[in-house]
Amino acid sequence: MDKRSLAQMAQRFREAEQRAEILRQELAVAIRQADVDGVAQKDISEATGYTRQQIRRIVLASGDATPAQVEAAVEWFAGLGHDIDIEAPEADAHGRQVWRCRKCGSHVAVNGQGKPHSPSGKARCAREGES
Ligand SMILES: [Zn+2]
Repeated sequence: MDKRSLAQMAQRFREAEQRAEILRQELAVAIRQADVDGVAQKDISEATGYTRQQIRRIVLASGDATPAQVEAAVEWFAGLGHDIDIEAPEADAHGRQVWRCRKCGSHVAVNGQGKPHSPSGKARCAREGES
């Protein structure tokens, strides 16, 4: 194994990595589209080999929410009794913007379809009415 052969092999590896990254992004787009089309996460999981949690992350991480979508999500969440500041989003572990309730700690985000998503679902704030 000489230096030139080593460099060629490393170059092939880098090219394969770039192709894999492009395919990974294309697969993520396809997964979001399947989600929008109403394919069950269980079926997306079986088809792709991703766990349902990975699929949820991919679906939730999609796109940039418009200000109107953010406003609608925050209003929806506040309507459940949560106490959030629209001006103070946090970034979660995946770089996604979330708005956290100052009372109960639950949060809301905008999903890939522009709709509000919260891990506590449509449940009302657990600490509603406390100050
Ligand atoms: Zn709350």
